[in-house]
Amino acid sequence: MKNSNKLIILTGPSGVGKGTVVKEILDKEKNIWLSISATTRRPREGEKDGENYYFLDKKKFKEMIEQNLFLEWAQFAGNYYGTPLSSVNEKIKKGFTVLLEIEVEGAKQIKEKFPNSLSIFLLPPDKAELERRIRNRGTENEESIKKRLSRANYEISASNQFDFALTNQNVNETAMRIIKLMQT
Ligand code: 5GP
Repeated sequence: MKNSNKLIILTGPSGVGKGTVVKEILDKEKNIWLSISATTRRPREGEKDGENYYFLDKKKFKEMIEQNLFLEWAQFAGNYYGTPLSSVNEKIKKGFTVLLEIEVEGAKQIKEKFPNSLSIFLLPPDKAELERRIRNRGTENEESIKKRLSRANYEISASNQFDFALTNQNVNETAMRIIKLMQT
């Protein structure tokens, strides 16, 4: 893939607000395309196949791994998540800036493959706030919340492996800071 400087990686722990920040960025910047990931987790209420994710069973996901159809993939809280290669390539060729909203292991894989990509780690104001956000979201059962929170400690300890680490205090401000980083 050429033009990997057109590749933006947004990572950070579950509950830090990546999704909300992404929405704000997409509202403000029209030339950005958000990659739609594949996952084996079940759809949440209101989530649509092909819009929020491509929802696949494990068998299909593993077939795609074997066929090298992912740019990166990782396991997270008991499920598989991956970025489909073909759509990202196609959008970069068309001149879009491609935004990946992914967890830390996948983000590291992308940064290794595409050193020119811009990688941004979102930090929560503090751990208690992260837990509050995950709980208030109301999308996870207790088991999933526990897995996500224990994983968050490990993820936060990797924050210095990315180009920038920003504390997500205020969604609008964070989005503006990311847009600025993309433009420099
Ligand atoms: P959720 O289940 O909350 O939608 O996502 C769980 C985690 O997986 C989040 O940190 C999210 O950013 C990450 N994620 C979503 N899509 C991908 C992907 O394609 N690859 C990787 N590595 N992580 C992803």
